[in-house]
Amino acid sequence: MAWDFETDADYQTELDWITEFMRTEVEPLDHVLGSQYDVKNPKRNELVRPLQAIVRERKLWGCHLGADLGGLGYGQVKLALMNEILGRSRFGPTVFGCQAPDTGNGEILAHYGTEAQKETYLKPLLANEIVSCFSMTEPQGGADPKVFTTKAEPSGDGWVINGEKWFSSNARYAAFLIVMVVTDPDAEPYRRLSMFIVPTDTPGIEIVRNVGIHPGEEGSHGYIHYKNVHVPAENMLGGRGDAFVVAQTRLGGGRIHHAMRTIGQVRKAFDMMCERALSRETQGGRLADKQMVQEKIADSWIEIEQFRLLVLRTAWLIDKHKDYMKVRKDIAAIKAAMPKVFHDVASRALHLHGSLGVSSEMPFVRQVIESFHMGLADGPTEVHKITVARQVLRDYQASNDVFPTRHNPKLEEQAREKFSDILAPSDDEI
Ligand SMILES: Cc1cc2nc3c(=O)[nH]c(=O)nc-3n(C[C@H](O)[C@H](O)[C@H](O)COP(=O)(O)OP(=O)(O)OC[C@H]3O[C@@H](n4cnc5c(N)ncnc54)[C@H](O)[C@@H]3O)c2cc1C
Repeated sequence: MAWDFETDADYQTELDWITEFMRTEVEPLDHVLGSQYDVKNPKRNELVRPLQAIVRERKLWGCHLGADLGGLGYGQVKLALMNEILGRSRFGPTVFGCQAPDTGNGEILAHYGTEAQKETYLKPLLANEIVSCFSMTEPQGGADPKVFTTKAEPSGDGWVINGEKWFSSNARYAAFLIVMVVTDPDAEPYRRLSMFIVPTDTPGIEIVRNVGIHPGEEGSHGYIHYKNVHVPAENMLGGRGDAFVVAQTRLGGGRIHHAMRTIGQVRKAFDMMCERALSRETQGGRLADKQMVQEKIADSWIEIEQFRLLVLRTAWLIDKHKDYMKVRKDIAAIKAAMPKVFHDVASRALHLHGSLGVSSEMPFVRQVIESFHMGLADGPTEVHKITVARQVLRDYQASNDVFPTRHNPKLEEQAREKFSDILAPSDDEI
């Protein structure tokens, strides 16, 4: 029987260990440390490195990469079950060596990198000795890479990059940037761009400012100018004109990993909502006993379970096909569903906590903003819905008649013909 919703006992033991380790050792880091990406912060390293060593020893480090790519080969279903626990905490993925955007960047280095690129960039990245940045979108257009203008022109033994990139997350902490640039302006639209690995200390890279998304935070999304940035030819990642294919490899994994971690965040909000409903008394009774509150809890539970099942099934499909393109529709579907379930549950949790909920003393406002982040980063929801619809429609055909194929009069005529030896022509109905 193919359908089974149970986790095998050995892996469940690991998940139980992860849950406890996260609660006691990792989640507290979120309250005392700045960026999890700041690998040059000695306090961060003093606290994070020993935890990473414990995770490595337990054989739970870097589980996003398959065995063929230097990982542990756990596959996406196991990773999903793990990530939904890690997603509860900002530091969770970093302590377990599977944090975005390094996961996606590692994946494309593993797939398309030369041996030298893997040695220089992938190895220290997988060890979290360094972090990376994916520098793709531009101020004039994010969701449509066809309008990008940042370009690389051949020069001597390499290329010179000029232009600007927007919202390059963690550029300020990164050792290198993976930059998507126009190399072949006259090629067909999907062959115009190539990918380059650019060390962040290369002359000509200027972070104009670090844009933030949460009130009062130190921004980390770099607005970057590239001015005559020289990179050697061997820093091209993948072939010339291959940037769309390379990006797609990265974004497929990136999107489902975001969805897995989002389950952790949504469940956190839900747990807090339930505790609040049981704890708060008003007008002679608990919130939990008011029907409008019960509806919020029921809706949230249903939405989380629906979303989680879709994520797990998509993870299972990726493990089965080992090809993101074959699971494109499903990945696009969870990407489109993710911001809504996150937004709706976090908003209800916020609302049930009243004034406390909307305050900076609780995580809900941040979560609601993060839900918008999930609806934009790696492409806006609309674009993913378009993908779902296009893929779904491939399985359908237009009617070759002015009336639909399942127009009742047609169906009745076909049925009458099928049963003509039993039905008399004059029978109106059976
Ligand atoms: C927190 C965060 C982190 C990010 N990190 C990175 C990063 O590390 N590297 C990087 O390169 N980029 C990053 N981005 C940028 C992200 O990829 C873009 O924001 C996203 O692709 C949308 O591009 P845009 O912001 O230019 O919006 P636009 O492309 O201008 O879209 C704006 C809105 O227009 C609508 N829209 C767009 N296209 C369509 C369509 N085809 N049909 C219908 N409606 C449409 C949608 O409502 C959309 O939200 C990040 C963004 C966020 C919010």
